[in-house]
Amino acid sequence: SVPLSFFGGLGAASRHGILMKGSNYLEAMASLDTVVFDKTGTLTTGKFRVTRVAPVEGTEEELLRLAAHGEFHSNHPIALSVKEAYGKPVDETLIGGVEEIAGYGIRAELKEEGNEQELYIGNARLMEQQGITVPAQETVSGTSLYVADSGRYLGSITISDTIREDVPMALKGLREAGVRKLVMLTGDKPEVGQAVGEQLGLDEVHGGLLPGDKVGKVEELLSRKREGQNLAFVGDGINDAPVLARADVGIAMGGIGSDAAVEAADVVIMTDEPSKLIDAIAIARKTAVIVK
Ligand code: ADP
Ligand code: MG
Repeated sequence: SVPLSFFGGLGAASRHGILMKGSNYLEAMASLDTVVFDKTGTLTTGKFRVTRVAPVEGTEEELLRLAAHGEFHSNHPIALSVKEAYGKPVDETLIGGVEEIAGYGIRAELKEEGNEQELYIGNARLMEQQGITVPAQETVSGTSLYVADSGRYLGSITISDTIREDVPMALKGLREAGVRKLVMLTGDKPEVGQAVGEQLGLDEVHGGLLPGDKVGKVEELLSRKREGQNLAFVGDGINDAPVLARADVGIAMGGIGSDAAVEAADVVIMTDEPSKLIDAIAIARKTAVIVK
């Protein structure tokens, strides 16, 4: 049976906007060894600013228009940013079949004036997979999005994200609460991951990961944690439901990307403040003391 005070603990958590799916997760939060963060939308705001549009030919506006149409049905933070940068209404009737390829990008059919296009919009890995050569370009800082049509490279869009305001404070609080290892996993390119990791003083950063690779990394970290202590994974739920499910405590945060994430998570933080993790630990420890 569950000691009564656990209900008090769960109630206190919910008043802080932290929903826990059971008292066992509240208990697990009291002793965390490792906290693993997803990058985009979790440590960063996920609100990308377009900093550079580089079409091979034609206008920047036309490249953005194609990208915004291809990304129309996606809720990925990158897609939302591209649509916002385009800033004009998207003509939905032009969009045919769309496939979102987790960790890669988008394939979308666009039909206009008898002209059928097969767009690929995504990272270098996607271009490589499609056999599309991306011309060597000057190194740009930020996340690169490449656009191609039916095997033809059309250009790139560079976007940059910013670290959430309360993240440094949240990480400091986690260390003070005894968390030994802070880790970031990302599907973004390793250079972008490294830059964020250095800025935040994280212990480990792993970039260029597909959703399945993230599960593998979490399993490896689980095998390296201190005995009797737990590993938490914190993500926004976009492309990370399998990792949320694998961690000792899977924590979904922010706008909450998908129903699948809410389902896979053990703990849901209703706001987009990573500092809520510190409140959760404090409530968990207070509850544990009362139960003892
Ligand atoms: P993170 O691990 O940082 O949270 P994701 O796993 O969601 O990132 O995405 C990894 C990478 O896959 C992105 O950096 C981007 O290059 C590519 N990608 C994913 N979804 C899209 C999309 N809708 N449009 C373009 N690129 C995408
Ligand atoms: Mg993500």
